[in-house]
Amino acid sequence: MNRFTKITASIGPKCEDRETLTRMIQAGVNMCRLNFSHDTGDVQGKKIDLIRDVSEQLHTPVAIVIDLQGPKHRIGNFATEDKYPLTVGQKFTFDTDPTPGDGTRVQLPDADVMKSLNIGDRILLNDGKIEMTVDSVSPDKIVATVVRGNEIWSRRGFNLPDTEISTSVLTDKDRADLEYAITKKPDWVAVSFVQRPEDIAEVRDFITARTSHPIKIIAKIERPNAVERISEIAAVADGIMIARGDLAVEVPFEQVPAISRHIIRECRKLNKPVIMATQMLGTMVNSEFPTRAEITDVANAAYLRADSTMTSEETTIGINPVNVIETMSKILSYSDCDAIANPYDWSRVENVPENDWSRSVASMAYLNRAAAIVVFARNADIATQISCRKPDIPIVAVCNEHVVANHLCLLRGVFPIYSDELFAQRDAFNAARKFGVNDGKIVIVDADKISLRTLD
Ligand code: PEP
Repeated sequence: MNRFTKITASIGPKCEDRETLTRMIQAGVNMCRLNFSHDTGDVQGKKIDLIRDVSEQLHTPVAIVIDLQGPKHRIGNFATEDKYPLTVGQKFTFDTDPTPGDGTRVQLPDADVMKSLNIGDRILLNDGKIEMTVDSVSPDKIVATVVRGNEIWSRRGFNLPDTEISTSVLTDKDRADLEYAITKKPDWVAVSFVQRPEDIAEVRDFITARTSHPIKIIAKIERPNAVERISEIAAVADGIMIARGDLAVEVPFEQVPAISRHIIRECRKLNKPVIMATQMLGTMVNSEFPTRAEITDVANAAYLRADSTMTSEETTIGINPVNVIETMSKILSYSDCDAIANPYDWSRVENVPENDWSRSVASMAYLNRAAAIVVFARNADIATQISCRKPDIPIVAVCNEHVVANHLCLLRGVFPIYSDELFAQRDAFNAARKFGVNDGKIVIVDADKISLRTLD
């Protein structure tokens, strides 16, 4: 059974040893996500080295994505460890004074954010459990009224769903993290709290000023203004992550499924890969089994033809990260191959940026019921182009550069094989066999030549 939807696994304390990582990659991880909100510098560098090493040992391409913390805003500290209740109608002040807070005020360490706020804007605290509206704004003080009350304590998240924040998408910490990460040649960088296409341009400029290594950029969509500009952002990014954690704080949670579908549709039009992220198998942090709802959520990502699903805390701090990957892989494999629930008519796929050439490859493969399309991938472009219809015929991409194989790891239905030998000999038959296709027809794509052969 082929699994077409890829798996991105967040790597953390419970899975960063060689043995667990090896078993997770054997169980199906295609991309490892290193979250720079937690560890930084050499601690992450060692994990990158280990992932590269295990990937090489297993002869399995595995991409690495560096996830930058981004401008995630938090309130300052309170005087005690206590939780402070905030009630509807009460006034609350955010200011620049580092004195520990009380039930009426607290410091906002990123004072620059105050410049972006307007009267009437909403402020969400503690994962959206508390909502306030801004009454007055001055350079060093915001006064707001509580409209949804709850408890607050030190260092809680501070979200501004109505506000276009004018500060850079890269904080000083992100710049230092990226500066370091670049030296380790990651395949992808994920940018948090993107709001506009210019944010991607800024990160790309930062990277290209420091390296010629081709590092691709994923825009994390977690703010309402990014959802509004999704097609402009997807046009300049190399991939998109639907970061449902913060997204569900910043937009009404009932809108998250509709927004996710919309994002996938817009990315499909531009042929940009999409990762569905956050709480996919969340209960597996403490359980060996997913809930029925989680199984359905993972399956729906496959039915929507997302390129990848993602694990978060269930692999970083969960009781059994290998079981999480096996579980996710099982659900995706079944759903990807479930022709009844998931009918696919390749000839009717619309709104994809296809050219005559890639349509010919797809038609040849479908009309001849090919078992695979084998592509000799000098770079990621041809396999990416052919995959724009998200066909359910596997695209086996033979690469002679690790970075090309790693970039293709994220694409739904594209199976990169790194082999100098198969590439140099243009050995499509053995590439197909290595992938597991032993008979039937295969379409071979080498530069602009397309041919149909029968495996013998
Ligand atoms: C998210 O918010 O869903 C997400 C993936 O981002 P992070 O885990 O970095 O907050």
